[in-house]
Amino acid sequence: MSLLTVAGLRAGYGHIEALHGVDVTVREGEAVTIIGANGAGKTTLLRAIAGLLSPTAGQVHLGDKQMTGRPAEACVRAGICLVPEGRQVFQELPVHDNLMLGAYHRRRDDLEHDLASVYVLFPALAGRRNQLAGTLSGGEQQMLAIGRGLLSKPRVLLLDEPSLGLAPIAVREVTAKLVALVAQGMTVLLVEQNARAALQVASRGYVLAQGEVVVEGPTAELMDDPRVRSAYLGSRNAPTPNRSGI
Ligand code: ATP
Repeated sequence: MSLLTVAGLRAGYGHIEALHGVDVTVREGEAVTIIGANGAGKTTLLRAIAGLLSPTAGQVHLGDKQMTGRPAEACVRAGICLVPEGRQVFQELPVHDNLMLGAYHRRRDDLEHDLASVYVLFPALAGRRNQLAGTLSGGEQQMLAIGRGLLSKPRVLLLDEPSLGLAPIAVREVTAKLVALVAQGMTVLLVEQNARAALQVASRGYVLAQGEVVVEGPTAELMDDPRVRSAYLGSRNAPTPNRSGI
């Protein structure tokens, strides 16, 4: 059964419509990716799901809960958490304080276990808990942003281009962490321009172009689709990526 259901979603900015009726589903424990070029509407879609932008039509459900147009805070409380593009960590705050900001709406007494799990998943953060976030590498800041999201105890984690601006080695590290997170059962909707990284994490995907879903299917099928290979995987003859390397 679908945990996150997006149906006929339309959203935009003033008179400009950026999403023209998008349907996306994510089942519990599933990792789904939305790939697409610059300006395809990926960020708009995540922002509309997370309550940061009001859709003009269509619906968003989390389980059987109607979430369409609910404010961001209600979405977080219901279990929809967005890890935003560009990480947006607080540079002048230590790692630990940044993580705790993700849990602002939660009772303090059941946080210890989740905090410990985040430090187990990201040992690089555990060794730097008192270090200012601004002094971390790009990859570490991305892990911090993901850790902060996890501390909101999401039912579905929305990730907006976690590989953006990272060096190839950091992309590989972050991708491996996302694979581990999915293996632990986290439900993920991952938006990426880096299709190669995204297709390693997800088992199913959608290609968004100019505000519409143009291709969808299991990742194995997407990787073999000539449109996806030529537009998003570099070349028609690009080797098929696998889970052991990008
Ligand atoms: P990117 O990979 O560059 O983040 P994207 O796929 O996430 O691209 P969106 O950022 O969702 O795409 O943009 C979709 C469309 O909406 C684009 O045409 C973009 O120019 C437009 N758009 C995005 N943000 C705004 C805004 N604040 N005001 C007006 N138009 C916007």
